[in-house]
Amino acid sequence: MDKRQQQLQQLQAHLQQLGEQFAQRLQQELPELADKARQLQQADDAEGQQHLLGSLRDQLHKLAGSAGTFGFDELGQRARELELQTQQWLSSLQLQRQGLQAFVQELQQLASAPPQPTTANPTAPVSNALSKGPRNESAYRIYILEDQAKVGETIRLTLNTFGYEARHFLTPAELDTALAERQPDALIVDVNLGSSQQSGLDYAAALQKRLEEPLPLLVITTQNDFHTQLQAAQIGAMGFFSKPVDVAKLESRLERCFAQQNGEPYRVLIVDDDHDLSSRYSLVLRGADMLVEVVNDPQQLFEAMTRFNPEVLLLDVNMPGCSGPELAQMVRFNDDWLRVPIIYLSAETDIARQMSALIKAGDDFITKPISDNSLITTVFARAQRARLLSNALSRDSLTGLLKHADIKEQVAIEQERALRSGKAASVVMLDIDHFKQVNDSHGHAVGDSVIRALANLLRQRLRRIDSLGRYGGEEFLAVLPDCSGEQAVRIVDEIRQQFSAIRFAGEHDEFSVTLSAGIACAQGQSPDQLMEQADRALYLAKHSGRNQVRLAE
Ligand code: GH3
Ligand code: MG
Ligand code: MG
Repeated sequence: MDKRQQQLQQLQAHLQQLGEQFAQRLQQELPELADKARQLQQADDAEGQQHLLGSLRDQLHKLAGSAGTFGFDELGQRARELELQTQQWLSSLQLQRQGLQAFVQELQQLASAPPQPTTANPTAPVSNALSKGPRNESAYRIYILEDQAKVGETIRLTLNTFGYEARHFLTPAELDTALAERQPDALIVDVNLGSSQQSGLDYAAALQKRLEEPLPLLVITTQNDFHTQLQAAQIGAMGFFSKPVDVAKLESRLERCFAQQNGEPYRVLIVDDDHDLSSRYSLVLRGADMLVEVVNDPQQLFEAMTRFNPEVLLLDVNMPGCSGPELAQMVRFNDDWLRVPIIYLSAETDIARQMSALIKAGDDFITKPISDNSLITTVFARAQRARLLSNALSRDSLTGLLKHADIKEQVAIEQERALRSGKAASVVMLDIDHFKQVNDSHGHAVGDSVIRALANLLRQRLRRIDSLGRYGGEEFLAVLPDCSGEQAVRIVDEIRQQFSAIRFAGEHDEFSVTLSAGIACAQGQSPDQLMEQADRALYLAKHSGRNQVRLAE
């Protein structure tokens, strides 16, 4: 059994345990409710009645929300009806004798014979589709279906330079043969396949249907109209590119697809005063590979937000001491948390009653009882979008790299770490050679795609622990922790060669570009001195003929 299956089994066991715990709680709670209803029947002062009614309503509300989530669908529905009855009495300020009799009887019946869960033990459909185990370090395999040999080959070669394992096929039949052997990690299809009757989109649509899990799909075409785009969207394409294809842009999109599949787990914070319920949500989300923290006391929320830095906040609507919407409003007082989407865990009755309060600071609702699937998909979609937006805001828009100030800060952090640990760290300053000429001969847009290509190449070739930023126009700064100056020179020189091998499509012809780099190794200098040394080494590289890497003396 692999690790993932073990995890799933553990999860199922936990869920079952929680379900049993909930069933036990019912044995106590249902008689309590029946008892309260009897007291209500006997109370003769209006104030006492109101008090009991309020308390019954709150308890029924909670029960209605939780029972269904634990698989007690029938109980949940009956609790909801009883809750609505109490609500009616509360708003009309009077009890009806007859109705009250039926109300008490219903609760007594629930207490003596609680309905059993609909599903013997509610099991999470914990979806494999949303997340996969960690990928091994081998290159991503990309299949390209493109009937024009030259276009397909250019894309294949460029993607290989970026470190992918790309293969190019001229016809659906060729691709079919390869697919039978092994599946790729992503597929790129051209729409018009020339002599073949079938369009690339039809082919991809049929293929996706055959697969257990659809492949990340990108579409390339000269047919850039609404209808074709719609068709691409309908078969789940994740990118649409007009020809001539900007391969660097295509590659960025591939990176984004894979980052979504294998990125850091999403961080989710749950605030709910109900311990069993919040444990259940937490287990279900963890089963879908998210990182989850639970806060049962709303007063602990801000501390948890600061420490855990969640990407999504799940808020119960009714809690003792303060409501979900109030809490949401307080979260919005803090600008640092503006990007965190807030999803309410709410009953439909909450939504009807508190719509205006809910929409003021929140973004979405999930209604109780909550199915595991809708919990996972809603949270996943919100988290994914929040991360995309957050990256878009904090990163350089052309390259997706850290901006000037942030990469400088990273240099300081790594220099400090190197001092403490006694390990080496290297700083690299990179600059594209004669870049002004690229702009002058091919235009600014082509220049942009060269910058993006270098950014992608660096991202692919450097390690996860390395930091990388766009220092200026066509200048990049990288910090490589635990890496000596000599090691850094080897790595960067390899990147230099790979970059010079990329063929870019210009206005009229293909061209290639080179880069120069300067490297300095941290040896107790200040961060500013380190960067200055790297810069001086870069200057030397430029003045010794460019297209080379220099280590600071
Ligand atoms: P050298 O080999 O000495 O580095 O020469 P160079 O031409 O690369 O250096 P220089 O610094 O003189 O020119 C850099 C040019 O890069 C000038 C500027 O117009 C251009 N540039 C800066 N940012 C961008 C950008 O975001 N997009 C594009 N297309 N060009 C940019
Ligand atoms: Mg330059
Ligand atoms: Mg420059």
